[in-house]
Amino acid sequence: PVKSKLTEQLEQLDVQHYMHPTSVPGQLPKMVFESGDGINVKNTDGESYIDGISMLWNVNLGHGQKGLGEAAKAQMDKIAFSSSFAGYSNEPAIRLAKKLADWAPEGLNTAFYTSGGSESNDTAFKLARFYWQLKNQPKKSKFISFKNGYHGVTIAAGTATTLAGFHRFAGTHIPDMLHATAHLTECEKGDRNHPDFKESARHIIETEGADSIAGIIIEPIQGSGGVYMPPEGYLQALRDLCDEFDILFIADEVINGFGRTGAKFAVEHYDVIPDLMSLAKGITSGYAQLGAVMVHDKIKEVINSSEGVMAHGFTYSGHPMACAVGIRNMEIMEEENIVSHVQEMEKVMNEGLAYLEDKHTIFGLPRNKGLIGAFEIFEDSASGKRFDADKKVGLQFVEDCFKRNLILRALGTADGKAIIALAPPLVITKPEIEKMISIIDDALTNFKA
Ligand code: PLP
Repeated sequence: PVKSKLTEQLEQLDVQHYMHPTSVPGQLPKMVFESGDGINVKNTDGESYIDGISMLWNVNLGHGQKGLGEAAKAQMDKIAFSSSFAGYSNEPAIRLAKKLADWAPEGLNTAFYTSGGSESNDTAFKLARFYWQLKNQPKKSKFISFKNGYHGVTIAAGTATTLAGFHRFAGTHIPDMLHATAHLTECEKGDRNHPDFKESARHIIETEGADSIAGIIIEPIQGSGGVYMPPEGYLQALRDLCDEFDILFIADEVINGFGRTGAKFAVEHYDVIPDLMSLAKGITSGYAQLGAVMVHDKIKEVINSSEGVMAHGFTYSGHPMACAVGIRNMEIMEEENIVSHVQEMEKVMNEGLAYLEDKHTIFGLPRNKGLIGAFEIFEDSASGKRFDADKKVGLQFVEDCFKRNLILRALGTADGKAIIALAPPLVITKPEIEKMISIIDDALTNFKA
């Protein structure tokens, strides 16, 4: 298709003036988005694409939700910004905190607001350290994160991120962030003898000394690292380990939260109650920049007993407009029974993946919980033989789908894997999932490495 003058102009301006996050510098944008409706987005040439990954796993209620824009406008017309520092507060921040407490697992009754996931994780680390200081255990300052975990890019969250690519740039290692070596490999055929993750965490705790460990951080269902569900008993065992050694359990629900996994929060599937829970993304379905850390009563009580100022917070902590959008987002999720809808759609997605697995020898390792899923491309999935890593078949497959107007995302490329992530907006319908599956079916049928 011929590009419009507008598209060409925007592409040129983009490459001249816009430095993008996590992308190859100096490249023309692949697409300039202009509008969206439900699971569909349009570019500046009016071409429509299915958003199979909810942009960055965050547009949970889909594109073009009028209610969220209306909530934003109503709040901005009243008061767009108000400080949350020095004793000031605002109604949307207060009401959202109450709503988050109603949704969160038992005991997590208090919200600390941020502007996104990285800030939420940094905040969780600081709150954990503050807690241990107040408990007269200031040595407890280290954190353990797990292999292929993604926790953001600020310098602390970026160090907790274990995906290697994020450490190549600018040396983001800060001290006291420890990396457990084991991986969530439940889904990987033939790789069941991996070192037990729990033993890996125990080993670090014992080597470093439990009196130096403040917390562990884990995505209950791993997202960007490859979409891995925790093996049976995995998170409970980690919770036990934390209890045994007096260590805080930080659940990073930045992707998992707000219905994505077929529950309000993924920890519900595993009967685990974290001490701190990081949120962002789906908290506003991407309509406003907001994150939060849910704080357990046991931590809040200790922090509230301290004297003086807890000097942590962002100008935009508790931003009224963002919080108003957050409230409306959760109300719409309730009104439209999004969590049970996702449970229904999980079945449709699983049927689609089973159909593809039966039909295509290059298709393997499908997994999906709620609407966070993935599959992998193999040279031969039965034997587990992968294509040569240099071929980057994951990226190629995503490109093949893009040509068929379906946006997906390849993961695991650095490990020589071709993991294709599926995470459409939660409002997706059965016919829309079937359409996604039929596009993938066609791309698989015609795939040439
Ligand atoms: N934690 C997880 C699990 C994420 O997936 C992400 C972003 O993808 C982050 C944290 C960082 O969030 P943000 O990009 O809003 O800083």
